[in-house]
Amino acid sequence: MAFSERIARLKGSLIREILAAAQRPEVMSFAGGLPAEPMLPKVDWSAMPTSVSQYGMSEGEPELRELIAADARKLGIDCDASQVLVTCGSQQALDLATKLFVDPGTQVLVESPTYLAALQSFQLFGADCLEIPQEADGPNIDSLRALLERSTPAFAYLIPTFQNPSAVRYSDAKRDAVAALLDEFGVTLIEDEPYRELVYDDQQPTSITSRLRKTSWIYTGTVSKTLLPGLRVGYLICSKELYPYLLRLKQAADLHTNRVGQWQAAQWLGTEKFQQHLVELRSFYRERRDTMQSVLEEHFGDLADWEIPQGGLFFWLKLKQPFDTRTVMQKALDVDVAFMPGEAFFIDPEKNPGYMRLNFSHVPPERLDEGVRRLAQVIRDGQSC
Ligand code: PMP
Repeated sequence: MAFSERIARLKGSLIREILAAAQRPEVMSFAGGLPAEPMLPKVDWSAMPTSVSQYGMSEGEPELRELIAADARKLGIDCDASQVLVTCGSQQALDLATKLFVDPGTQVLVESPTYLAALQSFQLFGADCLEIPQEADGPNIDSLRALLERSTPAFAYLIPTFQNPSAVRYSDAKRDAVAALLDEFGVTLIEDEPYRELVYDDQQPTSITSRLRKTSWIYTGTVSKTLLPGLRVGYLICSKELYPYLLRLKQAADLHTNRVGQWQAAQWLGTEKFQQHLVELRSFYRERRDTMQSVLEEHFGDLADWEIPQGGLFFWLKLKQPFDTRTVMQKALDVDVAFMPGEAFFIDPEKNPGYMRLNFSHVPPERLDEGVRRLAQVIRDGQSC
């Protein structure tokens, strides 16, 4: 059968395979970025107007777009609703951006490590992904400058707030420096911010987009981490010149995002009820983060190093004695534990052994200790092989 050339580049997603294996109810899964079941808000569908059963606009529901633009303006992003495109999760925003910019061989800049499913999307279209080395407070700015001097990337894909997988939050100084460099070299920014609202300290939310003066940008967000991932409602906001192209790509992809989910999202965003829900979510996850931290200290203290995440959903562990943690994935599943091998988040996994991403939002506290204990044993066994 004659498939398109790009099918040869199509990689399976390790995370989706692990999540499928972790479906068994007895599995304690630290693998996905799933919200905690008790924190999924109860939704009331009874007031849904029948009009949402009809076809809708490709741009998205006007009311929802207004709410999204108003929220972005609070971050200092200069935009209005005409720049908002509602997408099927923020994953679709990444897919549309890829289609807009990437041909085989197109250079793009990504953090090292970076979000697996973004890599999957960029690489499917043949992108040549160049990695920006990361530090505890964001990219190494000298390396970023050097990279910009010797390459011509179509865009830089960044997750500056509680990055997936590393949980890194860029400092304000690094946000300033990154924005200035992207402006100087005329490189488009794709700023992906699914974890911005899940913050466990007092730092105010901010963005890189709001610091740009010249270059094009796409800012993406989602209700997956704050409301319901199953709604599949995300969005992109972009600089005006990009919008007509992204809109046509959206039309070609699926006509419009499901209106039922958009209607539900609009019932929440911008309301007092949503603000209250965020307060509860933060306190619930902060507690789970703290429990995970003490359990990790007990079982992984001699095995790995890590920073305490100040937001988001993940701990990012670096093993003191590195080995490729993908090799013990099956052994972990055999003892009913799932986790994400960190190697998968790098362009070249072989060169980056010894990382693990552990989600702390999903496994209930009463099973946490047992799950982490079993996982530590699997790692000890793996290291001694
Ligand atoms: N970007 C990042 C960095 C993510 O971690 C995720 C979800 N794990 C997404 C995008 C996609 O989220 P969704 O499609 O559910 O909005």
